[in-house]
Amino acid sequence: MNDWLEMAKDKDDKDVLKQYRDEFYLGEGIYYMDGNSLGLMSRRAEQSLLDVMEDWKRHSIEGWTKGDRPWFYMSERIGDKMAALVGAESGEVLATNSTTVNIHQTVRTLYQPDAHRYKIMADELNFPSDIYALKSILDDHGQKDGLVKVPTADGHTLKTEDIIGMMDESIALILLPSVLYRSGQVLEIEKITAAAHEKGIIVGFDLCHSIGAVPHHLKEWGVDFAVWCTYKHLNGGPGAIGGLYIDERHHKKAVSLKGWFGNDKTTQFDMKHDFDQAADASQYQTGTPHIFSMAPLLGALEMFEAAGIENIRSKSLELTDFMMAMIEEILAAHDIEMVTPKSHAHRGGHILIGHEKAAGINAALKARGVIPDFRAPSFVRLAPVALYNSFEDVYHTVMILKEIMDDRTYDQFDNQRGVVA
Ligand SMILES: *Cc1c(COP(=O)(O)O)cnc(C)c1O
Repeated sequence: MNDWLEMAKDKDDKDVLKQYRDEFYLGEGIYYMDGNSLGLMSRRAEQSLLDVMEDWKRHSIEGWTKGDRPWFYMSERIGDKMAALVGAESGEVLATNSTTVNIHQTVRTLYQPDAHRYKIMADELNFPSDIYALKSILDDHGQKDGLVKVPTADGHTLKTEDIIGMMDESIALILLPSVLYRSGQVLEIEKITAAAHEKGIIVGFDLCHSIGAVPHHLKEWGVDFAVWCTYKHLNGGPGAIGGLYIDERHHKKAVSLKGWFGNDKTTQFDMKHDFDQAADASQYQTGTPHIFSMAPLLGALEMFEAAGIENIRSKSLELTDFMMAMIEEILAAHDIEMVTPKSHAHRGGHILIGHEKAAGINAALKARGVIPDFRAPSFVRLAPVALYNSFEDVYHTVMILKEIMDDRTYDQFDNQRGVVA
C-alpha cells in the first residue's frame, strides 16, 4: 500500500505544475475533489476582484473607460483570454451572461427552421438546463415535438455512430456536451461536426465540463458555436459570467436577444433606436456586463495562460489514471462500478463511480474532509484538478474511501442527497 504513497510523492515531485497549488485557498485537512462543480479560489482571482473594486472606488463612472481594466471592454478582453482555451480567434469568443442564457442567445439566433428542417438534436444524458432551453425555443416556434435525443445504451455514455446515425435532413441544429457532466465521457467533437456539416446541420457544444481541463480546437474542427460556464474548471467564482464562441461565418446573422451592449461600441452611445449590430462576437451581449462576476477571471485565467492547457490536460489525465488504478486495486473487494471511460481519448477531467450506497458514501467522505459530489441515484463524482490537486490528495482520498467501505461507515449517514448535490 505504501507503494501507492511513494508513487504519489514521486509524481508530485516531478509535477511541472506543482507551483500553482500554493496560489489557491485549499482548506486545512481538506481534499477537494469538486473542482468541476465549483473551482477553488486563487489569490490571483481574489486580487483581480479587489483591483476592480478599487477601480470603482477610485474612478466611479470613469471606470468604464479608465484604468488598466476598463469595464466597457472587459467582456471582449476576457473573451480573448479564453479564445486560446477553445481554439478560436480573437473576436469569436465573449464573456457574457450565463451558460443557459448563452444557449438561448446562440440557439435562438442560429436555429432557423423551415417546413422540412425544423428539429433540434440533443441527447438523453444532457444537462437539464440545456434541455429546458432547447424545449422553450422549440415551443416558441410551435415545434413541440421538435426535440430528438440520442439514446444511451449503457445509461452513461453516447456512441458516436448513434449520434451520427440520427442526423438527417429534418435536423436543423445540434447541441451536445463536449464532456458529459456525469460520466465524464469526452465526445468526438471533430467527427460529429464533420458529419453534421455533411448533412447541412449547424452544430454547437456545451463546454461546461471541458473548458480549462481539456484543450479544444473549435475553429479547426469547424464547430459553429459553443457555450460554457467559468465557475467550474476555470475557477471564476460562484455565479461567474458565462462564455460563448461563435464562428466568424455567423457574425452577419441578426442576433436574437438584442440589447445595447450588442451594438457596435463606436455608435452605442449615439442612443439611436436602430440597432447597429457589433461586427464580432460582441454582438451576443445584451445588457450591461456583470463586472464583479467577471473580475476574478482576469486573475484566474492568467494561470491557464502561464501553465498551458496541454500541460493541464496531461496532468489531469495522470491524476485520473492514478485515481482509477488505485480504486481498482485497493477497493477490488467492494462493489464499486467504474463508470468513466478508461481511454484517454474519451475521458474528461473527472471520474464517476457507482455504488448502491453512494449518497451515504458521499456524506461519509465529506465528514472525513474529502469533498466529492453526489449524483443521483447512486453515483459519486470525483475531480482531481491539475492546477491545485496533488497526487497525494488522490492517494488520501482513495485511502479514506477504502476505510469508509471497509468499516461500512456509510451506514451511519442517510442514503439521500442534500438540496445542492
Ligand atoms: C454547469 C452546467 C450548466 C449551468 O448553467 P448555468 O446557466 O451556468 O447555471 C449548464 N449546462 C451544463 C452542461 C453544465 O455542466
